Amino acid sequence: MSRTFPPLREELRGIEPYGAPQLSLEQAPVQLNVNENPYGPSPEAAADIARAVGEAAVSLNRYPDREFVELRDALTAYLNTSGGTGITPDMVWAANGSNEVMLQLLQAFGGPGRVALSFAPTYSMYPEYARDTSTQWVVGHRAEDFSLDLDAARAMVLERKPSVVLLPSPNNPTGTALPPEAVAMLCEAAASYEPGGIVVVDEAYGEFRRAGTPSALEMLGAHRNLVVTRTMSKAFALAGARLGYLAADPAICDAIRVVRLPYHLSAVTQATALAALRHAPELLGRVDDLRVERDATVVWLREQGLEVADSDANFVLFGRFADRHATWQGLVDQGVLIRETGPDGWLRVSIGTAEEMAAFRQALTHVTKEQA
Ligand SMILES: *Cc1c(COP(=O)(O)O)cnc(C)c1O
Repeated sequence: MSRTFPPLREELRGIEPYGAPQLSLEQAPVQLNVNENPYGPSPEAAADIARAVGEAAVSLNRYPDREFVELRDALTAYLNTSGGTGITPDMVWAANGSNEVMLQLLQAFGGPGRVALSFAPTYSMYPEYARDTSTQWVVGHRAEDFSLDLDAARAMVLERKPSVVLLPSPNNPTGTALPPEAVAMLCEAAASYEPGGIVVVDEAYGEFRRAGTPSALEMLGAHRNLVVTRTMSKAFALAGARLGYLAADPAICDAIRVVRLPYHLSAVTQATALAALRHAPELLGRVDDLRVERDATVVWLREQGLEVADSDANFVLFGRFADRHATWQGLVDQGVLIRETGPDGWLRVSIGTAEEMAAFRQALTHVTKEQA
């Protein structure tokens, strides 16, 4: 037998799979680490989803609708009520989570000899999509307050000529949203060389944005190379169903069809997402509560003398801690699991229910006193 087994690609050897540390509910009853919506579907919504899945089950001997026509129509209607105007079904594409959508974008538009660009701190999965598609990963940096220096960002795009620019807005892990000028400027820059690049604005947290923060969906008509991705995992409280989607020029959606696996969206997934979309007002009904809780968390953390990034998302990045791991561990010991992520010294807490946030505040007060 060869000494290297399994005969893995060189660049994958010794790499740990991505994933936040998972603890059981007994170890940490308050779980505020992966930006889930703490409010599950109501019994009525759950029953409707179960009924829809039951109906789909009768014909599971058949492959699902490869083009998920009905789901595309429903997602289109939703997007036109959620910041978009004039979006048509041929501008919408969906897959198993927006993670799969973005991997498909890299498969279609990245690849050997091509560059994917983002600005750190940014979503930790992006470099993995780049690696998995043999796309060169190039990362610029955000300013001290996590905003984007527009001139520097534009210069970097013009110099590196990326095929794909990845911009989470609101950003994970900082929570900060990009101004429309930034999106417009980078779309124009990425359209100014041959063959040009696409600009992906990842709005996984789009529904949580504060009043006055626009969605990049509004700009689709103005920029052919703009792609806006969304997910049902966060505001829609449907992380377990795995449904992400995008809106873009029809030619971009068409290109993805070349790389997608056959029948990638199962009949069960399509039925689940369709039923969930019928309950959209209810599933999204807690978003306002979570935004209020988020804003209160920002205020409280600042009152504790901590630095806090402005947040348009359902989580808050705060710091700085001389030993953030000790603070994280101290919170775990109090039964509160948050996320050790972002620049050194910072921690990220997802917004939970009012009770969970009270437990977080109490635990952090305790840990800070103990470590003082
Ligand atoms: C959570 C998250 C997603 C969504 O992932 P899904 O695969 O749709 O669950 C996408 N982008 C960012 C930045 C996220 O934080």
